[in-house]
Amino acid sequence: MTRILFADKLDNCLERWRSAGISVIGPVKKSNSSGYSAVTKAAEFDFNLVLPERSIKELFFPQSEPLMRYEIKKQEINTSEFKAPTSERIIFGVRPCDAAGLAIDDPLFGWDYQDEYWFQRRRETVLVTIACTKADDFCMCTSLKLTPDSEKGSDILLRPLENNSGWQVEELTDRGREAFKIIADLLQESQEKAAPTAVVEEKFDLEAALAWLKEPENFESHFWKEISMRCIGCGSCTFLCPTCHCFDIQDEGDTYSGIRRKNWDSCSFALFTMHTSGHNPRSTQSARWRQRIMHKFNYFPGKFNLNSCSGCGRCSRQCPVDMGITETLQELSKLLR
Ligand code: SF4
Ligand code: SF4
Repeated sequence: MTRILFADKLDNCLERWRSAGISVIGPVKKSNSSGYSAVTKAAEFDFNLVLPERSIKELFFPQSEPLMRYEIKKQEINTSEFKAPTSERIIFGVRPCDAAGLAIDDPLFGWDYQDEYWFQRRRETVLVTIACTKADDFCMCTSLKLTPDSEKGSDILLRPLENNSGWQVEELTDRGREAFKIIADLLQESQEKAAPTAVVEEKFDLEAALAWLKEPENFESHFWKEISMRCIGCGSCTFLCPTCHCFDIQDEGDTYSGIRRKNWDSCSFALFTMHTSGHNPRSTQSARWRQRIMHKFNYFPGKFNLNSCSGCGRCSRQCPVDMGITETLQELSKLLR
């Protein structure tokens, strides 16, 4: 017997969590895009999306975040820090690749400096993941050694039932168990079978690609130019990626007062490495694409023993010129052979 959450109990669950002071966020489709947004009624969820267009990242690492206010006086400088807003929340209906993306970034945000903006939100959030029963041509979690029902980063894993009437519940962490205690009497013991998980074929030989990237002479290979000629440097792939985490810190104000903010940045932008002298060490789009690939699959694993990619496929799915990580790694894995 397995514990089941039937879909017709979802509104009751939302009410229980709300009464306990916990807000709920989930996959929502709006007129021109989809992402993870606040939900008050079960009908607002869209569980049919293969993957929301916008990743879960922005709920932990907002596109723009105030860090401190400053005021410069004649003899003194006053500063006051902004804290991340506190709120207990459940993100219900997370895709496994998005939950894995957060787990991949945890060591980065706690490496040389503990980023409390990130970790406070991580501590206050319960991730309820739904295993994927369908995938599209861009999904590639299996190429990154994950699965459509990966537990990485999740607090609760839900497996959709064969008849689509609800989900089998697997509690993975204490945080998840606490959140589901609140709705324990709404769950039912049942023998309903789970639907099979999506079939996601491996799209490239990751080990071969990683081996090629590690060879120092390949840094200057003509491959980089050929593979990235069509990139227009729009930055969509980095902004939509659940694991891309580059940011810039800027003061918005004047000489006397203002706000210091942390804003998303992208290695695809020419200004990312532009020096004030005008010199740019990554002056071409191909150098910038090489950096993106090297960072994700060579430098990041070198430091954290993790690839900085969960295989969500957004970078290829939403690239305006039909490029992306998949194509590059497919070509790279052939090069070693
Ligand atoms: S690869 Fe595509 S999405 Fe990424 S910067 Fe280039 S054009 Fe934009
Ligand atoms: S690099 Fe592409 S496939 Fe990998 S996590 Fe980022 S958006 Fe998804």
